[in-house]
Amino acid sequence: MTYVGRFAPSPTGTLHWGSLFTALASWLEARAAGGRWLLRIEDIDPPRAVPGASAAQLHALHRLGLDPDAEPWRQSQRTAAYAAALRQLVAAGHAYPCACTRADLDAYAGTHPPQCVRPLRADAAQAWRLRVPRGVIAFDDRLQGPQQQDVRAAVGDFVLRRTDGLWAYQLAVVVDDAAQGVTDVVRGADLLDSTPRQILLQRLLQLPTPRYLHVPLLLDAAGRKLSKSAGATALPEDVLSVLRVALALLGQHAAARHPAHDVTCLLRHACVHYQSGSLPRARTIAAPQSAVTQ
Ligand code: GLU
Repeated sequence: MTYVGRFAPSPTGTLHWGSLFTALASWLEARAAGGRWLLRIEDIDPPRAVPGASAAQLHALHRLGLDPDAEPWRQSQRTAAYAAALRQLVAAGHAYPCACTRADLDAYAGTHPPQCVRPLRADAAQAWRLRVPRGVIAFDDRLQGPQQQDVRAAVGDFVLRRTDGLWAYQLAVVVDDAAQGVTDVVRGADLLDSTPRQILLQRLLQLPTPRYLHVPLLLDAAGRKLSKSAGATALPEDVLSVLRVALALLGQHAAARHPAHDVTCLLRHACVHYQSGSLPRARTIAAPQSAVTQ
């Protein structure tokens, strides 16, 4: 089966060191495997979207030589597919409408119990939730090793469509990874805990489960996710240096030192000599000083 990888940024800001690190890891994995690499703009949450962010991210990726093999998909244009998936789940008895508020769920530590706390009312907005079955979902992360989660105990019946009508990330990502034919998901370890929910949805929707590889999350000196760090919003102009720093962070030290004069040459070299066994295995790593102090 041909390897199909993807990078799926949310348009919540410019490309920063943390997202570049993930993008480069997924690009290298795909290219070194002779596979395809796709982009998907995860713009299903308009209140969180920053105007112009997705165009800026695509431009930054292009300058860094990370071009996809097809036109990027946009989740804002995929709502019919999410609606169809929800209908399929409802028809099979796996999803139900719910009017519980956040405050209602406080008594349950924010986790929805198998029965709703608040009754449905015809005139009130409702969310849709997955009826999470008992049992443990296990998978082997290619970098982080064996993982398992009792989804019902950990998160309970989770939201597929919000009360405000917006689609939940968990449903959208599963529908789109399958529709784009993604065989390999490479992304940040902050999503490791989401993966069992996604595997559960894949099973209930009879979709294939891709392989997963979660790279460490870059943290600033204060231990915050880099995207949340005020000093880490933009990458420097010097794209060759940026790639070299990111390659070194990914354990690709020989490639990082290669005296290439342009990004195409550096990336080609990085691809040919790519060693996935050298990727850092931790859940988090410290961002280089240069990544947070510009
Ligand atoms: N859109 C998510 C983010 O920007 C990534 C989702 C994924 O890779 O599954 O963090």
